[in-house]
Amino acid sequence: MRPSRFTFSIVIILFLGNCISLFSQTEYIDYRSATNPLYWKNRKPFAGYWQQDVHYNIKASLNDSSDIVSGTEELTYWNNSPYDISHVYFHLYSNAQNKNSYLSDLYKNNDYNLKFGKYRSQNLGTVVGTITVNGQVLNTELDNTILKVYLPKPVKSGESVTFNMDFKTYFDKEAIRNRMKMFNTFGNKHYNIIHWYPRISVIDRKFAWNTDQHMDHELYGGFGSYYVEMTTPNNYVADGTGVLINEQEVLPDSLRKKLDISNFLSKPYNSPPSIITPRDGTTKTWKFSAINVHDFAFTCDPTYRIGEKNSNGVRCIALVQEPHAAGWYNAAAYVAKVLEVNSYNIGPYYYPKMIVADAEEGTETPMLALCGGFDPGYRSLLIHEMTHNWFMGMLGTNETYRAFMDEGFTQFYTGDTYQFIDGAIELEPQPKSKYVQRFVEPKRVLDNEIYNSYFNNVVVKNEEVTLNTHSDDFNGGIRMGGGYSEVYTKTAAMLKNLEYVLGRALFDKAMQHYFKQWKFCHPYPEDFRSSVIIYTGIDLNWFFDQWMETTKTIDYAIGKVKRKKNYVYEITFKRKGSMQMPIDFVVIDKNDSARHYYIPNTWFEKPTRANALPRWIGWGPKLKPTYTATLNIGTKIKNVIIDPSFRLADVDMTNNIKKGRFDIKFDSHIYNPPNWKQYEMRIRPDVWYNGYDGVKFGLRASGDYLNTKHVFNLGVWLSSGLGQAYVDSTSN
Ligand SMILES: [Zn+2]
Repeated sequence: MRPSRFTFSIVIILFLGNCISLFSQTEYIDYRSATNPLYWKNRKPFAGYWQQDVHYNIKASLNDSSDIVSGTEELTYWNNSPYDISHVYFHLYSNAQNKNSYLSDLYKNNDYNLKFGKYRSQNLGTVVGTITVNGQVLNTELDNTILKVYLPKPVKSGESVTFNMDFKTYFDKEAIRNRMKMFNTFGNKHYNIIHWYPRISVIDRKFAWNTDQHMDHELYGGFGSYYVEMTTPNNYVADGTGVLINEQEVLPDSLRKKLDISNFLSKPYNSPPSIITPRDGTTKTWKFSAINVHDFAFTCDPTYRIGEKNSNGVRCIALVQEPHAAGWYNAAAYVAKVLEVNSYNIGPYYYPKMIVADAEEGTETPMLALCGGFDPGYRSLLIHEMTHNWFMGMLGTNETYRAFMDEGFTQFYTGDTYQFIDGAIELEPQPKSKYVQRFVEPKRVLDNEIYNSYFNNVVVKNEEVTLNTHSDDFNGGIRMGGGYSEVYTKTAAMLKNLEYVLGRALFDKAMQHYFKQWKFCHPYPEDFRSSVIIYTGIDLNWFFDQWMETTKTIDYAIGKVKRKKNYVYEITFKRKGSMQMPIDFVVIDKNDSARHYYIPNTWFEKPTRANALPRWIGWGPKLKPTYTATLNIGTKIKNVIIDPSFRLADVDMTNNIKKGRFDIKFDSHIYNPPNWKQYEMRIRPDVWYNGYDGVKFGLRASGDYLNTKHVFNLGVWLSSGLGQAYVDSTSN
């Protein structure tokens, strides 16, 4: 008898449980095993591929009086590269916020006046004491966030080396944003202990050593395994990356019941927390074991309360500060939904748990999504930070180098998964004012998550950004500035337009293939491109070249629509923009029935129910800038519209429709994002007074496309004579 799927999964869980108790602190045996289906050697993306292996054994403790985490780290490093290695580099990320850092220089040159806290002003971020191999102290060279370590003898290809070191990481009141942070929660201290330990740099097949300074954008680490013990004062509630192997000791059932979110759901939002575990001067040690990860993160707060659901054997955990419990009532259930949808659309979630934490943040780490806010406003943030576990966590891209491969892909699926779970309109808290309620317009998820920001960047701000750019080289900007936000929005728009080019079914299969081919390895942009091209068998280099390597934009227009004999029409299209794309369009006849057409721009034709027309090959300003479709409609044409699905990221939609649509609405002065899909006109009655005319009544009308194109402003006034001041015509 073959075991059913159910009994099979129980066997696997028991087996994993066994391994963890047997091999605590030697997780690398499981990670590097021939039976680990996720280990790169057992499933190389292509023959000849290699990557390094790491195993961290970290024992650390948090002192919440001094705000210092002190620890020891034993790192075993396997050199699978073809090179002999005579030195290594470590990232000390939290040195980026120090007074004399590269990042503070960037802030100063962006006119920030920085006031550093007590540790940062002494350049204390992460400080490594001694570092040894086999008891021998090694020479090091520190340059802000990068520590170079010289080995006593080279580690040959195929060999391993074990480093031992002690370190201290300092939490401070930051002058510069740091995602490793502490803050006050109702008189308690909250710590997000992330990017906190000396993490070895990656040497890979593209870079050799990656020695980028940390500039508060993205990170990059090698895959392997972690055993981490973190000691906190006894009153903290905590969780982190991996299996909490002493759960019964630190969260016994009696305590876990008291901490359950269900006990606090009826408390008014933001009311002070209760004390569940009085602080008694003792400590608790939280022990974690993780494999197939490239980082370890931890969060703790005495006010954390816990919600939990299960999704196909994965523990879905919500950590919420007690005062916010009412706003997080659905968090664990929402985690389960996101895992289900992402696993269906992208690929399986391979980790044993997913935590969302109420942590005044929006940051991703393996198995731990640091979030904030409350329902329903927090949904897109929760989805975003969890979805990172596919593109930051399970695909270990070099995000420091090319942030779009993580942030942009994640942003695309933020909108996509949101729609799958909650529908096409974004859920928002109901505004209190009736007036605001009346004039706030519902927002399409795809506009809110993708298109509004893309058009804001490209059309309104006129930013010209090439995606294939280093994450720290966006015009000297900090955080989202200098065009960096296009890493999110232009990439998400690119993927939506790839979906438009391929059709949804083939797009899904191509993305799933990319994830399957590269999971737990380190893909670069060229790997993504070839993965999609080889899988689909379609030349998409024209597409990726335009979107990743240039600042080109799309603008198609409908030209003349001529009626020939009977009801045969000639419809002319113009390529006004610098980017070429295939065209979906619809013809509406006089009876309001729609006929769908498709003009391919290469030999590839996507599967579609629309009528495929002859291909339109052409690019640039001079090669076939126009195209004429000859169609026998059989009756009179009322309208012609390009891409009624609103996926084509066309920078001027006013010419995508033959009989222009525009919105005339009352100018309520309530902010709504500009509608990229059509021309907008606003009308508002106005009253004005001057001494000569008295009170004037008027009508003010304005109109524009995306606030920037075809702008007009008009005022019509009627003087009432009321309140007219005396005007002496002889005065001068
Ligand atoms: Zn993100």
